[in-house]
Amino acid sequence: MLNVDLHSHTNVSDGVLAPAAVAKYARQAGVDVWGLTDHDEVGGIAAGRAAAAAVGLGFVPGVEISITWANQTVHIVGLRIDETNPVLLAGLGATRSGRDARGREISAQLAKAGYPGAYEGALKYVGNPDLMSRTHFARYLIECGAASNIGEVFRKFLSEGKPGYVPHRWASLEEAVGWIKAAGGIAVVAHPGRYKFSPLAEGVLFDEFKQLGGSAIEVVTGSHTPDQYPVYAELARRYGFLASRGTDFHAPGESRADFALLPPLPSGVKPIWHDWF
Ligand code: AMP
Ligand code: MN
Ligand code: MN
Ligand code: MN
Repeated sequence: MLNVDLHSHTNVSDGVLAPAAVAKYARQAGVDVWGLTDHDEVGGIAAGRAAAAAVGLGFVPGVEISITWANQTVHIVGLRIDETNPVLLAGLGATRSGRDARGREISAQLAKAGYPGAYEGALKYVGNPDLMSRTHFARYLIECGAASNIGEVFRKFLSEGKPGYVPHRWASLEEAVGWIKAAGGIAVVAHPGRYKFSPLAEGVLFDEFKQLGGSAIEVVTGSHTPDQYPVYAELARRYGFLASRGTDFHAPGESRADFALLPPLPSGVKPIWHDWF
């Protein structure tokens, strides 16, 4: 069976490794087909595609778009996109544009909480100045000794209600799905089990997503706990969504799942790649 992994990050967003290094790392871990889905950015795709070809790894160009839906941040993955599409590029550019100001505000909040200089500190971890992420602040706070790992630093400082959390309004669901479709791609709800929606609200999200032309949800992802795999497999069946799978890899040792360890999709769902090869 093919190991198809359709969600990962490079240092073009909040991952640590350059695209070519992620390609090598994934190949060595046994991945056969690799999807690169940096946040709000497609700047790593050309390098990722070339590196994948060089190591005999199948390649799927993708992106993970930040949106705001019902006052929460939700991520929509686009797969098999044309990364040169002007509609997509304009939308992603607009999405990225608020990140630097948000970073400065996060830094101001962290200073009040006793951690000055966080903007400059986080910048040391930023690979792409257009894409300053909470993850870069997390790495800096760990460096300061404020927490010992990524999960803890998000719990203590960077999630809603915590001292370094700055609310932000991203794109709409309709915009993100529209950009992905304009670029010839397939839209996927990323890690649905991570949001804090009631079952009712989650159902409304899925209905709206489907109406807008969305096709799939992630079922097996490093951002789900294993007990969520069958839950989202069942929801994929119920809503008629294809099922996607991917580690959500950010860095060796830092992510909740590594390429070699992610289980296959449960039986009874239709893999998003069912007609790709
Ligand atoms: P941003 O897009 O700047 O708001 O940052 C979001 C990123 O932070 C996500 O893509 C994850 O990589 C990371 N993140 C958010 N929450 C957590 C968490 N609880 N544990 C680890 N990483 C997280
Ligand atoms: Mn991330
Ligand atoms: Mn995500
Ligand atoms: Mn991700």
